[in-house]
Amino acid sequence: MSPPRYRGRFAPSPTGALHFGSLIAALASYCDARAQGGEWLLRIEDVDLTRRRAGAAEAIAATLTTYGFVWDGPVCKQSERGALYAQALDRLREQGRLFACACTRRELEATLPGPAGERVYPGTCRGRPVAGTEGRAWRVLVDDAPVAFSDRLQGRQQQRLDRDVGDFVVRRGDGLFAYQLAVVVDDALQGITDVVRGADLLASTPRQIWLQRQLGFATPTYLHHPIAIDGSGRKLSKETGAAQLPDDPLPALFRAWQFLGQSAPQRPPRSVAAFWRWAIAAWDSRSLPPVAMLPSDADVASQPFAR
Ligand code: GLU
Repeated sequence: MSPPRYRGRFAPSPTGALHFGSLIAALASYCDARAQGGEWLLRIEDVDLTRRRAGAAEAIAATLTTYGFVWDGPVCKQSERGALYAQALDRLREQGRLFACACTRRELEATLPGPAGERVYPGTCRGRPVAGTEGRAWRVLVDDAPVAFSDRLQGRQQQRLDRDVGDFVVRRGDGLFAYQLAVVVDDALQGITDVVRGADLLASTPRQIWLQRQLGFATPTYLHHPIAIDGSGRKLSKETGAAQLPDDPLPALFRAWQFLGQSAPQRPPRSVAAFWRWAIAAWDSRSLPPVAMLPSDADVASQPFAR
């Protein structure tokens, strides 16, 4: 049987407008998919309704269109897929993998980080009957088997979930499904074969692979590209006040291209359509730097292909 055709995705959270960091993720996933003749899907990750901003999903789609991205099929919205996440949760419950957790935020904040730097759930409610299920989070009972995978850029990765993360939340106390569960269900049911996303999510991938295995889903290949950080070393994000993308796409597209270590064109494309024709042909995932610095505006201005 021939392997399934490449199907990638871009999965922004609609917590605000797209910024330079999101453009990097969109561009990397788009070029990687299109360069291999693959599909590219747009998924709005609004599973966390408390962080969703009115109109942000529409604004993201409009910006992507202005920037010349063309996605395949309808836009998928996590907020409309609760029944699918509930089915996955039931499956985990049937397997005896779920338990209710009554720990307070304060108790959880007092837990210490493990070897991987993340707070490790100490197992407080594991095997302990918790009175009532209202307002309770649901966690999965992890095990001590190493979860390893080979990232196309970052190389071999391995975690032991019991030691590095602990039993993690799949449904929150407020009833919302957790990102880790939603993304696993969506990647599987949308037939995603290749995940290209920021390296800030690298540490989440073993949790996702573990869930895929519990749920009988295939594991896609992963490529975690470098992410843009601001002057104080924080990831560019809506929360840290990253500026929204400018109306004029070409300079920002070139800047993202350059950030991803891709080669400069001999003659700078003069239109967005020409940029994409050139970029998809020129994309080389092997020249991605594992980590990258955000170029300052001065550096960008001195580049031959910056306008
Ligand atoms: N929604 C996540 C974000 O905006 C991306 C998740 C993913 O690509 O798996 O950072």
